[in-house]
Amino acid sequence: MADLRSFIRDVPDFPKKGIMFKDITPLLRSPEALERSVQALAEPFRNAGVTAVAGIESRGFIFGSCVARILGTGFVPIRKPGKLPWTTRRHEYVLEYGTDALEIHDDALGANDQVLIIDDVLATGGTAVAASALVKALNANLVGIATVIELTFLDPRKMLSGVNVHTLIQY
Ligand code: AMP
Repeated sequence: MADLRSFIRDVPDFPKKGIMFKDITPLLRSPEALERSVQALAEPFRNAGVTAVAGIESRGFIFGSCVARILGTGFVPIRKPGKLPWTTRRHEYVLEYGTDALEIHDDALGANDQVLIIDDVLATGGTAVAASALVKALNANLVGIATVIELTFLDPRKMLSGVNVHTLIQY
């Protein structure tokens, strides 16, 4: 099978000028590439005692739910503000293209949880840091963060020192 990288489509100036958007839909469309990517995301965490996979809206839901099935855990959605129906914790952060906030249900995780965070792209790292803050705010332990793509030129790991970060394709 072709390299996973060949299933990522570069879309210039989306959603705004100067951003090279990494489109993962060709990867999702390929049964082999999807299977290989979710297995590879889960691989380092197979024996890590993960009790919950937390996926970041919205592309993190797709990969995160597949990884939860592989690891035999449940799934926790981390969503944009105002989308979750129950009482939430909120964390604000800076995105590569704008600012935003994330929320989690305040009863989604607890002190006995070992959590793996999943998203599609690690860019500045702001989103991952916000998601980590939400996991920690609920007293859960962060086992790691795994994404399909890492934009190393934005140096996201600088914001994530001490965190086990696992990425499949680096640019
Ligand atoms: P950041 O907080 O800068 O690490 O941005 C990560 C979040 O923004 C992820 O949820 C990505 O889906 C999205 N994102 C940021 N930059 C890009 C990009 N160049 N291509 C696709 N998605 C991106």
